[in-house]
Amino acid sequence: GGTVRFENVRFSYDAGREILKGVTFEVPAGRTVAIVGPSGAGKSTLSRLLFRFYDISSGRITIDGQDIRAVRQESLRAAIGMVPQDTVLFNDTIAYNIRYGRPAASEAEVEEAARLAQIDGFIRATPKGYRTEVGERGLKLSGGEKQRVAIARTILKAPPILVLDEATSALDSHTEKDIQDALERVSEGRTTLVIAHRLSTVVAADEILVLAEGRVAERGCHAELLARG
Ligand code: ADP
Ligand code: ADP
Repeated sequence: GGTVRFENVRFSYDAGREILKGVTFEVPAGRTVAIVGPSGAGKSTLSRLLFRFYDISSGRITIDGQDIRAVRQESLRAAIGMVPQDTVLFNDTIAYNIRYGRPAASEAEVEEAARLAQIDGFIRATPKGYRTEVGERGLKLSGGEKQRVAIARTILKAPPILVLDEATSALDSHTEKDIQDALERVSEGRTTLVIAHRLSTVVAADEILVLAEGRVAERGCHAELLARG
């Protein structure tokens, strides 16, 4: 399961400007849909609405046909995994930070998740400025490494639905490619909504939506959108 639908969703953060003016799309179970569009178009807002951080003013958001308003917060959080652009880590070992995705996971599962995310080299270390009980030195993690910790956490959690907020951040292109590969691995077989900043990074999406001025302005696969300019 895990089909996500937005049906004619309208939303404003406050009484002011309407951010979404009737947005409709579906991410079929196991497929990947990417949302692109200019900064401020409302892409991140869509992901916040899926978690029900805010209530929509009209329309419907459903998971497998069920209105998310009828789903308890804990169930939503269990069903949806998020790899954010900027991950805040706990002041503990990387292994602990990964395990947060599924506290009951075995040590071997934590290590496997770290391996898939390519951070298995330093899971006993801690983020910047902290020391572990065993006295290992703190480790200054780059943005890409932090994102990989978030990926490992999500691999371990293995939720049916994924939201990937791609980094605009200053990752070098080699790191970006690695992260891209890791994200593709984690999204395989899961319902995935990718918040993308550039069309070039979402070649593999089943469908790409262009969000502009609160509406889905265009939709198609990568080749179709490129052909239309
Ligand atoms: P995108 O992800 O496409 O860059 P966002 O979803 O972050 O866009 O933001 C869409 C619009 O909503 C922007 O104009 C932004 O300023 C506004 N916005 C975002 N978060 C809030 C908030 N918490 N309160 C009020 N306005 C917000
Ligand atoms: P309870 O444990 O009180 O039954 P749940 O949080 O398990 O509450 O579920 C509340 C409702 O949401 C139930 O109808 C359940 O079937 C539904 N539900 C639970 N998880 C999901 C999910 N991931 N997607 C869609 N519906 C869900």
